[in-house]
Amino acid sequence: MCYAIPGQVKSFDGKFVLVDYFGEQKKAINELSALKVGDYVYAQGGFVITKVSQSEALQTLETWKDLFFELKDIDDRSVKDMPWAGAKFAKVRDMFDCVSADGKISLQDLQYLLSSKDAGEREFIRNAANQSRHKYHGNSCCVHGIIEIGNVCDQVCHYCGISRLNTSLTRYRMSKEEILESVRVAVEDYGFKALVLQSGEDADRPIIELVDIVTEIKKRFGVLIFVSFGEVGREGLEQLYTAGARGLLLRFESSNPNIYQELHPGSNLDDRLKDLRYANELGYLIITGSLVGLPGQTAEDISRDIQLAGELNVEMLSMGPFLPHPHTPLAHNLPPTKEAVVQVLAAARFYLPSHVKILVTTGLETLNAEARELAFRSGANSMMLNVTPQEKKLLYEIYPDRAHQNESLAVQIDSAKNLLQSLGRAPTDLSFR
Ligand code: SF4
Repeated sequence: MCYAIPGQVKSFDGKFVLVDYFGEQKKAINELSALKVGDYVYAQGGFVITKVSQSEALQTLETWKDLFFELKDIDDRSVKDMPWAGAKFAKVRDMFDCVSADGKISLQDLQYLLSSKDAGEREFIRNAANQSRHKYHGNSCCVHGIIEIGNVCDQVCHYCGISRLNTSLTRYRMSKEEILESVRVAVEDYGFKALVLQSGEDADRPIIELVDIVTEIKKRFGVLIFVSFGEVGREGLEQLYTAGARGLLLRFESSNPNIYQELHPGSNLDDRLKDLRYANELGYLIITGSLVGLPGQTAEDISRDIQLAGELNVEMLSMGPFLPHPHTPLAHNLPPTKEAVVQVLAAARFYLPSHVKILVTTGLETLNAEARELAFRSGANSMMLNVTPQEKKLLYEIYPDRAHQNESLAVQIDSAKNLLQSLGRAPTDLSFR
């Protein structure tokens, strides 16, 4: 299965190229030196990542030709057939009209959306968010792969099962060769075009080693690389960017400094935000967000989380449920409901700039197996599949019984593909900015 559709370069405009997909044209940043008009490329996250031969491109496009339009049709019809609210829910309808006219709703409006308790109004909010997703993103859906390269972590985040507080966990650190082989499998055998490399904050794996790994991946594979190694500081971010990383996954977890402090002894929110702001300045695509359902968290806190993600120039919002792990200080706290988390995603779709992608986290699927589909019908349009080798994946236990933890990559892909096809979503990925 291919995770992106090849497009043909139509023109150049400074560092940008215009890429054509069956008549639809999108802009992407080009960093390849020998690219010319007429070439075929794969692009991800708004970057051209690799050139592809004309024969390979035409073969792939042939298989996509009918499917591309069939999927669009399914998505168009699903939005048209959505139950709408008639004259009801005027306040939400006004917000929707504002967003549809490219306006911005206020923080108070966002809090209203997050606090709605009326089942009919909540359904209307979800449907309206789906309309916005359809208007601004069409039926495209990011499908990134994630490789969990090590579960050693020096931090003690109170919600996390791989924090150093969990002394019962077997720890691992994948070697460079193991990582490169996982990347090869993901890119060459399964067609992934964007990969996230993730680990805990591991002082025994110095930045220079991570830089070496990113450099080697960049040299060998045409893939967009996101890094997620916790706080690596300005120098670390610069080195990883120079090596070829173009995305950063770093959640701030809570915008409320008191909650943050409580859950992250020895760390502070400002340091984390400094990393995120500097990464944005460097040109990283930012994936960030927070946990929903933390002890003491209010709707106002969540609205500020969404606001902060916007201020950080988020490219893809990652907000997932708090899930208790038995070997953490929060073991006895309850998770939120799937409806509460999906409402957050739908409200975020109203508030954040229209180009922002919204991720369905594995945490949400772990909370409830049907939540992935509900989230996709409520404004979300991205997912990640776990491409970590099976025996390592089971040890990356940030919370217990993670969704898909016993599934092979092939099974995960099949289930993602079936879901996307039933919803009329195409796994294409280009920035709409
Ligand atoms: S959340 Fe990240 S930094 Fe915190 S303990 Fe878990 S892996 Fe480590």
